[in-house]
Amino acid sequence: MEINISDKCILCNEKETVLHLLYECNYAQASWDTIHKALNITISPEFIVCGANDKCLNVIFAYVCYFLYKESVSERNGVKRFVDQVTKRLEVEFMYGKKILACTNLSGEI
Ligand SMILES: [Zn+2]
Repeated sequence: MEINISDKCILCNEKETVLHLLYECNYAQASWDTIHKALNITISPEFIVCGANDKCLNVIFAYVCYFLYKESVSERNGVKRFVDQVTKRLEVEFMYGKKILACTNLSGEI
């Protein structure tokens, strides 16, 4: 049995790398912009690679990565969402996660 694995991002059809999927993709950028607006933090490519010394920030990172993963699975299953629809979903989901703010003093650039 042959398995055909594409090197194209399922969300935007650009060449897929880890950095693309989690940072460079339009969907990832829109998701990080949503987090920036909600928490006033800026996510850099270095943060994507190295993480942060803050458990809450790492939880947020894991959450966004999981969110992007869910979006790619939905896309593979034929559910097409535009970037603004994805960020709206993230905004709604993230409203429930605002309690994270209570355990850290998020501000500035990571
Ligand atoms: Zn992409």
